[in-house]
Amino acid sequence: MGKLFLEHPGGRRLYACASCMTVLTNKRSLVSTTFHGMSGSAYLFNSVVNVLRGDSRTTDMRTGRHIVRDVYCKRCQKYVGWTYEYAMSADQRYKEGMYVLECFYIMQLQSAVKD
Ligand SMILES: [Zn+2]
Repeated sequence: MGKLFLEHPGGRRLYACASCMTVLTNKRSLVSTTFHGMSGSAYLFNSVVNVLRGDSRTTDMRTGRHIVRDVYCKRCQKYVGWTYEYAMSADQRYKEGMYVLECFYIMQLQSAVKD
């Protein structure tokens, strides 16, 4: 195994992999808290780092047909959510390139310094 390079998204209010605490994104990247995954509630982010992407697949959601890829933590390789590659419905196109992380698989980290 080569050296694992991890990025830091910046900010003090962070979301990390619940298994290994690798930072994945921050509060500034949070778009919506009203999404749902297999494990329950999930959050939509416009930017996520330190993830690996799986194969693309087509899925039918309440909001129509989408092409998505599951995403996994780069360090521990546990599943954390999915990313949208393509939305068939024009009104869902805003999600393309965004990531949904399931709350069950992530944890919120907060720096002691208030922002
Ligand atoms: Zn992890």
